[in-house]
Amino acid sequence: MNGLLGDPSARRAYLGLDERLRGLSEVDRDLVRLGQMPGLSRWLEQVAATGGCARPVYLRGASETFSVVSGELVRRYSTAGEPGERLALRCRNRRSSRCGPCSWLHQGDSWHLVHAGLAGGKGVPAEVRSHPTVFLTLTAPSFGRVHRTGGCHRERPGVCAHGRTLGCGRVHPEDGGFVGSPLCVECYDYPGHVLWNAHAGALWKAFTDNVYHHLAALAGVGRSAVRRLLRVSAVKVAEYQRRGVVHFHAVVRLDGPAGPTDQPPSWATADVLVEAVRTAVGAVALAAPVSAAYGERRLRFGVQVDVHEIRGEENSPEAGERVAAYVAKYTTKGAEAAGGVDRRVTSAAEIRLLRVSAHMRALVGACWRLGGLPELAHLRLRAWAHMLGFRGHCLTKTRSFSTTYRSLRAERGDYVRGGPAPKREVTVGFWRFAGIGYRPGEAVIAEGIALDLERTREIARDHLPPGWVGGARREPRRAGAAGHTGRGS
Ligand SMILES: [Zn+2]
Ligand SMILES: [Zn+2]
Ligand SMILES: [Zn+2]
Repeated sequence: MNGLLGDPSARRAYLGLDERLRGLSEVDRDLVRLGQMPGLSRWLEQVAATGGCARPVYLRGASETFSVVSGELVRRYSTAGEPGERLALRCRNRRSSRCGPCSWLHQGDSWHLVHAGLAGGKGVPAEVRSHPTVFLTLTAPSFGRVHRTGGCHRERPGVCAHGRTLGCGRVHPEDGGFVGSPLCVECYDYPGHVLWNAHAGALWKAFTDNVYHHLAALAGVGRSAVRRLLRVSAVKVAEYQRRGVVHFHAVVRLDGPAGPTDQPPSWATADVLVEAVRTAVGAVALAAPVSAAYGERRLRFGVQVDVHEIRGEENSPEAGERVAAYVAKYTTKGAEAAGGVDRRVTSAAEIRLLRVSAHMRALVGACWRLGGLPELAHLRLRAWAHMLGFRGHCLTKTRSFSTTYRSLRAERGDYVRGGPAPKREVTVGFWRFAGIGYRPGEAVIAEGIALDLERTREIARDHLPPGWVGGARREPRRAGAAGHTGRGS
């Protein structure tokens, strides 16, 4: 050891110094280059306009705005005058593990989207406040015993067919890697787990159809007649449990047949909706495609169903805000929140190298294996292996529930521009892709800008009453960080 560290170059290698110096000097060189860049202040403006996005997309091009009335050119914008002759746009990644600033904006949008469906606003009529509305959580069934916090299955004596203990009895810490992984990997139903995730979207669809059927039964009308009497509007988010299975949190609202402006019939109360939801969840059952690899699988929701009315004694603005905050929180997470991966897997060899738990590797591996079966080709399990088989959107909603991400983004853009674009103008743009991401020095500065903006938000949040969430409230005032500026869009 002494001999090795006596040699200066060996010591440097041992300490990883060369590596670190190389890394440092690259950042330094880049910072020097930035310092000498003629358009530095405009470049900083651009980065601030993306909110310090971790991986912006660059465009090169121009746009021209004409008056519809006279046909004259009103404005012209070109990236020719921008630093590097390009414009930076947000990456818009919703995952906090990929881009903090963009996921934060997405969370704010999700909050508005859910909140508008509960309380009105953003183009949703305020009447929705009086409609029966419930909050529910739908889980998956068990695919095998997994380690849990507290006394881990302490009550279970004995061993499984593979000689492993049925109750481990230990107290696992909340953040320990253990929680959510199976007590016996051989007992654990990996195909069933992956098939459930892959059918979660279909199970949700079957559930909402069933809600109509069960409302019809409760009202004593036919299945098609009930759709002429009312409409079931809903928004749901998918969350990964520690064991790597998707479950849903959802808000379900009853409207009249014409939608949010229309009262549902008087018999369709919140109690009736709660009852219909309960019975509908229990009735859902889908058959997975039969395969020699695993035989037959019937897919159902778990027995644990939590459903309660959002209105009633809880009828307060805070209740709506809490629910919206709860739902929005999950929209910035994917399978990586349960210890999975946040990007696509492209080969079986890559799965062996993933830095994940054995359980996650087994789940991704099961997706890859099952994804090779022709009878499951339609589930595209290989393309969605990183999502552990689930290929739905994190947040989905029925059209009439509320506003859309698209219109929320447009509204944000309008705010930055100082109002909606004049109706009597039309803009034609010519854009092409001009790169993505930062150089090392640029990344350091962008990170600093993102941190500054985050600190400002936190200070603001500390001065808001409880229940006010994330950036949702302050959103419109953060003009500097709200997507790319109106220039050139
Ligand atoms: Zn971003
Ligand atoms: Zn345990
Ligand atoms: Zn076993």
